[in-house]
Amino acid sequence: MPHVTRFAPSPNGPLHLGHAYSAITAHDLAGAGGTFLLRIEDIDGERSRPALAADFRTDLSWLGLQWSEVPQQSGRTANYRAAAERLRAEGLLYPCTCTRAQIAAAATMTGAEGPVYPGTCRTSVPDPSAPAAWRLDMAEALRRTGPLTWHDALAGEQQARPDLLGDVVLVRKDAATPASYHLAATLDDAKDGVTLVTRGLDLFATTHVHRLLQRLLGLPVPQWHHHGLLAEADGRKLAKRRGSPALSDRRLAGNDGWALAADLRAGRFPTGLHLVQSVGCYP
Ligand SMILES: [Zn+2]
Repeated sequence: MPHVTRFAPSPNGPLHLGHAYSAITAHDLAGAGGTFLLRIEDIDGERSRPALAADFRTDLSWLGLQWSEVPQQSGRTANYRAAAERLRAEGLLYPCTCTRAQIAAAATMTGAEGPVYPGTCRTSVPDPSAPAAWRLDMAEALRRTGPLTWHDALAGEQQARPDLLGDVVLVRKDAATPASYHLAATLDDAKDGVTLVTRGLDLFATTHVHRLLQRLLGLPVPQWHHHGLLAEADGRKLAKRRGSPALSDRRLAGNDGWALAADLRAGRFPTGLHLVQSVGCYP
């Protein structure tokens, strides 16, 4: 069955083999008659380097992929603000002025995204002059939605457990970054008509939160396909800073992108790399 899928890279560093694997997976799972979208997620504040988006397009062409490009996130902030306003009006968001260090010191649980926020500001009135993020009141949200499920193509039916991530941030403190990944990606996928959300297993747990947001905001529910992650021999994710060459380096060195794509599709990975396939064993 044809699907609408997307590859959604952030222009804060060059694409590497892990991104190529992810893009090819999304492209191929669109299927005959499907649509493969490219969305540039460029709201990462100061880390965002818009010029990299042009390199991304050249990299994807070099791999032999074709796509339709949808508007980048920096053009969608009105939609993020409207959704946050709606949740705020429904009493589901509260301001939080805690610093990272304060949260780390107060947290008693660690979840998929690090220390789970202990809810300090849920019950106290934070300093109105301090910059505030807006967090989802998870217990109240779950009380309103009741139990939810979602479907992963590889892992099967899932009971949504957004509570494991605690009161997640939906609006960041940084005014240049109006929405967190959770809010922006969920809204964008709905707006773009994505029917099959593909992404790496490292983002598996975030889907619990996205499923909840879909219910709260009345958005359509897609299917998901969380794919394995290319890792180095020590099990760590590929990263440019640890010497994983950028796709653009391979391209500029005259490597054959189509041949590389064929190798990745066939599971033939460069020496030293392997695919980590199970949830939870990925650092
Ligand atoms: Zn707080």
